[in-house]
Amino acid sequence: MVLLGRNFKLGLKMKIAKDCVVSINYTLTGDDGNVMDSSDGQDPLTFLQGHGNLIPGLEKALEGKTTGEELKVSINPEDGYGPYRDELVQDIPKSNFDPGQPLAVGDQFQVETEVGPLVVQVTKIEGENVSIDGNHPMAGKTLNFDVKIEEVRAATEEELSHGHAHGPGGHNH
Ligand code: ZN
Repeated sequence: MVLLGRNFKLGLKMKIAKDCVVSINYTLTGDDGNVMDSSDGQDPLTFLQGHGNLIPGLEKALEGKTTGEELKVSINPEDGYGPYRDELVQDIPKSNFDPGQPLAVGDQFQVETEVGPLVVQVTKIEGENVSIDGNHPMAGKTLNFDVKIEEVRAATEEELSHGHAHGPGGHNH
């Protein structure tokens, strides 16, 4: 038997699995072909796999892949940001708002609900009526990702205890 030198490294690449830190470049397009989000011109997105930091459909598609691989994946709303829920759209009287504060379409604020806090956006102001929408902007949408995997590495103990990735493209704290 021939022993390999101590510095010899077999060309095995780490495959994406739970507790890996993964960096990807991506472009997200809607079914209308419009780009909704992209890592272009930024650090790659760096995340800890298997801890709910990404939408479930994307984590699932990346499982078992490795550095350098590219994939196209189409994710339905159930595996993305969930279905669009009509009950999250409500009209409230303007009198509920602080009259000293300007109010405009597109304003976002947090409201209390019986199931916890919810971020809502003002979608329409008509007379005394203010329409708000608590759906995620990507709820109900099919998400088409073009992904390139830039790096896969084992997470550090600290990252695992925090439940997220550190460094460029991840958390900096
Ligand atoms: Zn942390």
